Amino acid sequence: MSFGKEINEIVKGRIKFNEPLSEHTSLRVGGPANYWVEPKDLEDLRAILQFALNRHLPWKVLGEGTNILARDRGFRGLIISLRGDSFQKLEFNEDTSYTSYECWKRECCKRKVVAGAAVILSKLVSEAAERGLGGLEFAVGIPGTVGGAVVMNAGVQSACLGDVISSVKVLSLREGISFLGKDELGFGYRRSNLGKEEVILEVEIELKKEDRNEIANLMKDYLRKRRETQPLGQPSAGCIFKNPSHISAGELIDKANLKGRRIEDAQISTKHANFIINRGESKAEEVISLMETVREEVLRKTGIRLEPEIEIIGE
Ligand SMILES: Cc1cc2nc3c(=O)[nH]c(=O)nc-3n(C[C@H](O)[C@H](O)[C@H](O)COP(=O)(O)OP(=O)(O)OC[C@H]3O[C@@H](n4cnc5c(N)ncnc54)[C@H](O)[C@@H]3O)c2cc1C
Repeated sequence: MSFGKEINEIVKGRIKFNEPLSEHTSLRVGGPANYWVEPKDLEDLRAILQFALNRHLPWKVLGEGTNILARDRGFRGLIISLRGDSFQKLEFNEDTSYTSYECWKRECCKRKVVAGAAVILSKLVSEAAERGLGGLEFAVGIPGTVGGAVVMNAGVQSACLGDVISSVKVLSLREGISFLGKDELGFGYRRSNLGKEEVILEVEIELKKEDRNEIANLMKDYLRKRRETQPLGQPSAGCIFKNPSHISAGELIDKANLKGRRIEDAQISTKHANFIINRGESKAEEVISLMETVREEVLRKTGIRLEPEIEIIGE
């Protein structure tokens, strides 16, 4: 059944039909989504969510698609992208009362930042650094949006976004708009309990006044490490598998002699064994087959079962 006409009547923002997800995922694979909607504002978002609920239409919010593997037959349902202006707020609390010792003791030197879900994470990181606000250096070079980074609790070995988040503003049809405190967000290693029933609208982050040069140097180090170890020029979805508790997934894949293994244009990176790159024309099913090969080989050789970090959507 086609809902195109009704969606056209309801939504003020941009609508596309049969939109190829390969154009919206960093791995550059994936068939079409029946409906692609970019709500103009909160009211628009609420209306399309209500419509999806009434019509039992599956829906999913997509950030920049940097942690997503979309299957070749596409997504039967509605993809919501918040890239419109209404979800791009970036507000730094410029209160300077931190200068007194008393204030410092009360930690007034902490600064609140409110970022809309669609803000590109690297923009938030660089604007914080320019203002001498430390705490997000680890996130330099992590692609995607603030909303996606919250859902995934994006981070590196030493730090993650959940460390600096104080609250999240979400919209759900059952609860309306609510503010969830850090303790309610279920942050763990590359996980949170967000994103299933609710749409993240804004995030409040707490950063600290630091020396600008120190921030810049730390960011340079993180970026250098990334460039040295990751195949950044080629389409990928970052790390494919989560690290088991005591060893990195990349090390296990490397030890299983799988670096460079290919299925058509899907290839395990020779630079970082936990990255699968798309050499040009890869299909999602080839990436999935390669993932299955990796899981089987690693299990056979080490007894360890790897769990995907990326999310597979669609048919
Ligand atoms: C080269 C490369 C390097 C990477 N390095 C890292 C790294 O160092 N550390 C790391 O943690 N990750 C890394 N990643 C993975 C990825 O960038 C992160 O997980 C990122 O935070 C995902 O953001 P996104 O906007 O692309 O989200 P998407 O991939 O679009 O979505 C991720 C999930 O979030 C949900 N979502 C997104 N926005 C919202 C919203 N507003 N409301 C509700 N749900 C939402 C989606 O439905 C989906 O379930 C890397 C990826 C690449 C390609």
